[in-house]
Amino acid sequence: MKKFIGYKCSVCGTEYAPKDVMYTCPADGGILDVILDYQALRELPAEELILSGEESLWRYFPLLPVSTLIGEGTPLRAAGWTPAYSPPQLRERLGLHNLWIKDESSNPSASFKDRASALLVARAREIGADVIVTASTGNAGAALAGMAAAVGHKSVIFAPKSAPPAKIAQLRVYGATVILVDDNYDAAFKLSLEASQAFGWYNRNTGYNPFTAEGKKTAAFEIWETVLAKNDFDRPACVFVSVGDGNIISGIHKGFKDLYEIGQIERMPRIFGCQSAGSAAIANAYAAGNENIIAVAADTLADSISVNLPSDGLRALRAATQTNGAYIVVEDKAILEAITDLGSVGIFAEPAASTAYAGLKKAVHEGLITPQDPVIVMSTGSGLKDVKAAMQAAGQAPVIEPTLDAVKELLA
Ligand SMILES: *Cc1c(COP(=O)(O)O)cnc(C)c1O
Ligand SMILES: [Zn+2]
Repeated sequence: MKKFIGYKCSVCGTEYAPKDVMYTCPADGGILDVILDYQALRELPAEELILSGEESLWRYFPLLPVSTLIGEGTPLRAAGWTPAYSPPQLRERLGLHNLWIKDESSNPSASFKDRASALLVARAREIGADVIVTASTGNAGAALAGMAAAVGHKSVIFAPKSAPPAKIAQLRVYGATVILVDDNYDAAFKLSLEASQAFGWYNRNTGYNPFTAEGKKTAAFEIWETVLAKNDFDRPACVFVSVGDGNIISGIHKGFKDLYEIGQIERMPRIFGCQSAGSAAIANAYAAGNENIIAVAADTLADSISVNLPSDGLRALRAATQTNGAYIVVEDKAILEAITDLGSVGIFAEPAASTAYAGLKKAVHEGLITPQDPVIVMSTGSGLKDVKAAMQAAGQAPVIEPTLDAVKELLA
């Protein structure tokens, strides 16, 4: 069955055949949504939508816009299928009956971005592209470098020179060509587009390549399979997502829309975008009640969501407005606190990953979420990615003389 049948522009609504475009809408630069053959997919029973033997995002292969499964026995085939924990301590602290934290740190490169990159590499293979390039603050690059390395593709990563050292080291270890730009992420993004045009490289950029959201939507499928399909909730689930460029939230929205289109869910979950107060371009538009997303001068310690002008802003905004969700803004201080909140139940999150939990705390505090609302919080990346922020969140450990007396003194 041919399941990928075209694209639809998220701005003007024009539809294109797969062979007619590669990246964005030729008319207005709008980001393209991938259209599947929903009619045919509607006919399939749930069992045929899932390859139950695949313990990765590839279990949803029938719903993904690629025609061949690649990378058997490699990390590419291990992306996704992350655990959703339901820590009783956090449920009690927040007064929520149903709470899950979906921990993306178990992805091969330790962030959510593997979902997009795994699919992108499969797509690159399909269209015969050897070199794949991306701009990244770190995680998207690491994911691309890792997934490309897994199956022998070349990757080129443009990153701002301020990216955390652990992330840059990871790119280098995966053998990517790493180019550090003496400017911000937005500048690296622009330069990567120029380079892909000049050298004919396949570009993975977030909010540009339509396939990233197709990989990211698999998180919604997992929420459906492991949480929604197993519980008979009498109200919509609420999904909390941290937002920078806005592609994760758009991808998760797309995943639920696919499931709705093919009749597997009867109502859409509510989607809540969480941004740092220092990088809140989409939340500002939400608060203003319009779709006019205006660049900010981003300044937040959560580097993975530090963006001046989000490249997938419009779709990201609509993920909340079209699902009766909301945008929530949290201070960096609350982001650091959320790192230790998650840490206290054994989940190690980087700042951008704990932002969603910080957003949930605020939503509960403000009464946006009630105890009966089922809640799923995405924790998008590992705390090991940004050790400096982890130290800031948890403080320094005491140093003592190696004597029992010193231990007693410390504990007293
Ligand atoms: C990229 C990233 C985000 C934000 O995703 P966007 O698509 O840019 O909104 C959040 N958390 C982590 C850990 C990330 O790497
Ligand atoms: Zn268009």
